[in-house]
Amino acid sequence: MDVSYLLDGLNDKQRDAVAAPPQHMLVLAGAGSGKTRVLVHRLAWLMQVERVAPYSLLAVTFTNKAAQEMRARIESTIGVSLNNLWMGTFHGLSHRMLRAHYQEAGLPQGFQIIDSDDQLRLVKRVLKALNLDEKHWPAKQLQWFINARKDEGQRPGMLDAGGDYSLAQMIKIYAAYQEMCDRAGLVDFAEILLRSFELLKQNSEVRGHYQQRFRHILVDEFQDTNAIQYQWLRLLAGSSAKVMIVGDDDQSIYGWRGARVENIQQFLKDFDGADTIRLEQNYRSTATILKAANAVISNNQSRLGKDLWTDGSEGESISLYTAFNELDEARFIVSRIRDWHNKGNPLTDTAILYRNNAQSRVLEEALIQDGLHYRIYGGLRFYERQEIKDALSYLRLINNRQDDAALERIINTPARGIGDTTLDKVRQQARAQGQTLWQALEQLLQQKQLSGRAANAIAQFMQLIGQLDAELTELPLHEQAEHVIKQSGLYAMYLAEKGEKAQTRIENLNELITACQNFDSPLLEEMSPLSAFLSQAALEAGEYQAEEHSDAVQLMTLHTAKGLEFPLVFVCGLEEGLFPSQQSGDDPVRLEEERRLCYVGMTRAMQKLYLCHAQSRRLYGQEQYPKPSRFLRELPAECVEEIRLTTQVSRPLVNNRFSGAASHSAFENTGFKLGQRVLHEKFGEGTVLNYEGSGPQSRIQVNFDQLGSKWLMTAYARLEAI
Ligand code: ATP
Ligand code: MG
Repeated sequence: MDVSYLLDGLNDKQRDAVAAPPQHMLVLAGAGSGKTRVLVHRLAWLMQVERVAPYSLLAVTFTNKAAQEMRARIESTIGVSLNNLWMGTFHGLSHRMLRAHYQEAGLPQGFQIIDSDDQLRLVKRVLKALNLDEKHWPAKQLQWFINARKDEGQRPGMLDAGGDYSLAQMIKIYAAYQEMCDRAGLVDFAEILLRSFELLKQNSEVRGHYQQRFRHILVDEFQDTNAIQYQWLRLLAGSSAKVMIVGDDDQSIYGWRGARVENIQQFLKDFDGADTIRLEQNYRSTATILKAANAVISNNQSRLGKDLWTDGSEGESISLYTAFNELDEARFIVSRIRDWHNKGNPLTDTAILYRNNAQSRVLEEALIQDGLHYRIYGGLRFYERQEIKDALSYLRLINNRQDDAALERIINTPARGIGDTTLDKVRQQARAQGQTLWQALEQLLQQKQLSGRAANAIAQFMQLIGQLDAELTELPLHEQAEHVIKQSGLYAMYLAEKGEKAQTRIENLNELITACQNFDSPLLEEMSPLSAFLSQAALEAGEYQAEEHSDAVQLMTLHTAKGLEFPLVFVCGLEEGLFPSQQSGDDPVRLEEERRLCYVGMTRAMQKLYLCHAQSRRLYGQEQYPKPSRFLRELPAECVEEIRLTTQVSRPLVNNRFSGAASHSAFENTGFKLGQRVLHEKFGEGTVLNYEGSGPQSRIQVNFDQLGSKWLMTAYARLEAI
């Protein structure tokens, strides 16, 4: 059989890796050197040449999307269906394992995954139950604590407070939280990994099954595995599977979440005889971009050391733009994308990368103003939108009555007269009796412990859920979703809301039905379509975005951009305190991680890279005047072309804010003076701070007494002088 096509488009070293005999392997190489490409070809090679059945392969990817793309690519290359191939993220694969062995893992069949929002809500409930004040015990920190312990494989019983009161409390909260989850059949993200690890560790039958099954295990982006993931891999591999890991220590960016770059060295110790292959040729970026990225990362001390070169063209200089403020930055970026698009280039080839999700809003507004379509990865998450979570919560409760998180969310949405007093009573009952909320509801009704009205409302609610459940049995998945959205009253509730937002919500609900219609999953063999869909929705919450426009600018955080590439890339907000982030402070370890993040960002660019920073930035409602990021100083001068301020955006300097001259032009352009008090129909009273543009395009910045500063289109703001 001619298998040369499996080696086409690979350099010698890549071929060595792809065609190596079955063995442990570490492919250690810099960005854009073809690590992921090698991994994909290796999978195909193992199936075609080594005749390994897809059933015996396990491949771990960084995102679900990456897994889907890889699967499709290999299927089309070798023309074999890969239904049996286990390929996905650590979470996705562990979840699949838990579904197959829910009993052995001590879970109910209908266990439900909860996202970080749900988790936070549950932590807050635990605090209430334990009579602890949230002011002293911030729920977010506790959530962080619980997840970090789980990532390290630690159960409450394994932790020792050693006389530390506060730690002892945290452990107690962790234990109570876990009890609550177990009772309700809820599994958080960290729990997915931990449970499946424990399952493998404690159950020799299950472990034996998988150790026999998987002959080869391949892992992409290995540098970001955490303790529990690595142990999971070791257990699965046992003594006979061959493990190939690919990664880049310079792109390890999840240390703050427990990832351990040391796992790379550990791998060489634990997996005897592993061959290390280094790829040094970069195929992604121009020589200029590569040189600059290499220069930045060379400032890090702790590196395994790699060389990266390209025989590609020099390419354009990196453009460095110093913006006046974040609005100017956004408009600059949009104008460049506009030019690029006008030359006939697709918008999809463009990515705007930022350090913080909060930066996206201003960018989005600028894109909207210019009529450019965009798409956000992560951030504005489809499955985390209010209306989608409402609808999913109905489906979840129908699927599993013990799902407390879902019940809390919808018991009074739409409003059906079940108030906080009643709910508190239900929670108390649940707590006292060790019941789920649903069980508590049943008991309270039975014992007639609720007022007539509340009892009625609750009985109706429970009846509705029961009735919907019965009605769904015969329906295909998307009709189930549609039925529930309509019969629950959600649709009517959002229809009754007026305005654009409500319209979007309705559209999103329709999009959910479409998502159900297109749903397909290997999990369908093991569970009902509804359960499978709900699990996937929870797992992919951070990735899925409704594809409203196929040609759209891509917006995402630098973390999310890992592994991806785009011809045109903007990295924005390169300012001290933002990137590197405030939290990294002067901690050299965290600063190095920020620098790696910068390296990841820069190396996403194929043809042209823009780096931007602003001289003043309003973020989280606060105005700051940050210094340019230290990473900018690390760029070789010959790679960079600086762009001077081109746009005219005014922003008052503190001492001339109310000066006569400025007031005069402000008045001409907006009809209001700087410093003038104004009244807005919705936002209330405020003071005019700034303006920009003139005529119908003019915008005005008002510092509202209640809400803080907002930019408004003067023509639509309908401000009244007071
Ligand atoms: P990252 O570290 O960012 O994940 P990577 O090492 O995984 O990068 P790939 O994404 O596999 O790199 O490859 C980068 C780009 O180079 C891709 O567009 C890929 O198709 C291309 N490429 C890889 N190897 C070759 C090759 N031998 N010839 C031509 N193009 C290649
Ligand atoms: Mg890759």
